[in-house]
Amino acid sequence: MLNSLISSIKRWRKPANPGPRVIARNDHNLSRRDISRAALTVMKRLQDAGFEAYIVGGGVRDLLLGGHPKDFDVATDATPEQAKELFRGARIVGRRFRILHARIGREIIEVTTFRGHHSEGEEHEAQQSEHGMLLRDNVYGDLESDAIRRDFTVNALYYTTNGFAIHDYTGGMRDIEQRLIRMIGDPATRYKEDPVRMLRATRFAAKLDFNIEDKTAAPLEQLAPLLRNIAPARLFDEILKLLMNGHGERTFELLRQYRLWHHLFPDNAACLEDPAALALSRLALRNTDQRIRDDKRVTPAFLYAALLWPAVSAEQQRLIERGTPPVPALAQAAQKITSSQLAHTAIPKRFSIPMREIWDMQLRLPQRGGSRAQRLSEHPRFRAAYDFLLLREESGEIAPGLGQWWTEFQQADDEERQQMVRSLQRSGGNGRRGRGSRGGRRRRPKAAE
Ligand code: ATP
Ligand code: MG
Repeated sequence: MLNSLISSIKRWRKPANPGPRVIARNDHNLSRRDISRAALTVMKRLQDAGFEAYIVGGGVRDLLLGGHPKDFDVATDATPEQAKELFRGARIVGRRFRILHARIGREIIEVTTFRGHHSEGEEHEAQQSEHGMLLRDNVYGDLESDAIRRDFTVNALYYTTNGFAIHDYTGGMRDIEQRLIRMIGDPATRYKEDPVRMLRATRFAAKLDFNIEDKTAAPLEQLAPLLRNIAPARLFDEILKLLMNGHGERTFELLRQYRLWHHLFPDNAACLEDPAALALSRLALRNTDQRIRDDKRVTPAFLYAALLWPAVSAEQQRLIERGTPPVPALAQAAQKITSSQLAHTAIPKRFSIPMREIWDMQLRLPQRGGSRAQRLSEHPRFRAAYDFLLLREESGEIAPGLGQWWTEFQQADDEERQQMVRSLQRSGGNGRRGRGSRGGRRRRPKAAE
């Protein structure tokens, strides 16, 4: 009796495990009104059927920080099969993690069953690879075991309309206040279980403007090569979340700082000593961030085009110096760099094809003689190629001028356009094949000289 009292006091005082902490409704600023109707419906239906149900993850985290969550996930002690009974048309998805998609009106709410600890004899439900990577994780548990298998403390806060309290088993509230991304458990072990967590750490740090806590950051550089073990398709999805979430430029800086970047985009990383290549990468990301803020369309094709262009262009230059004409040199360079990138991240064809078109058009934009300018301006990829040209000029890769010409051309009427092309021919700058076909490349001194 006394012994168990002492050991429970010891456990209670253990600094590494600050929870469980229940933050009562009056002691936090999260309100039911901030939560989508669909998520509230899902919670209520589970609770009415006698199950526990909590909002967890990004929804709670972002609301506590005053942001607008993009979705709400629900955690419950109901198994996927039990939960499925409660929602008409619900589907169980996923193999690695079986989750339920409950459809309420137009919204889909992800319902996950509390995950548990793994023990022997459960190989069927939970599997690890030789690298310590979790291949399957379908052992069920309770709220506490579910909390400690989540990635970061700020992602392991649970809110329920049954009492309106927040449940914090890992010190997430403190880390929200201190603006820290802290891994739950031993960081190296957790990264080995799932290397994507390394990327998630930088993603949340960039998005929330948090610091990565020292022990959480410490293993990143050494474990970065594990990114190679992630399936290329999953890595592509993660890259979109990293670079096309409105905080791409800051994420890029953090990925470089933690030495993760060169495992994702080695051909880009190898060029960053060149100030123009660095500037182009930053500008493309900044542009993407701005477009997302403005609710404009963004495409991975443009971003990939910008990130890989310095390597493509350098390779093209090498081939030209060995006597290959510019057009086939670009095609060969594009082929080489694209397949080298494919070894790291998948690029679905619907993006790689427009990416190559944006590159090809960089050779054609200087050639404006005759009816070429008119035809080019009608090309479906013209706008992207023109935006790309402007970024190249702004980055200092090429001298400015051509971009301005195209800006004026687009604003001009038919008469003025013909005039523009004629005066180009008079000044000898019509850029027929052979002359302007290298896009006015400006030679720069080598960066490190
Ligand atoms: P976002 O705003 O990007 O959606 P999020 O925190 O909701 O952020 P999700 O990817 O939607 O992130 O995941 C939901 C929750 O599931 C996370 O908050 C975290 O608790 C848990 N989670 C997701 N991925 C992992 C992972 N790789 N390892 C451990 N826990 C994870
Ligand atoms: Mg989410």
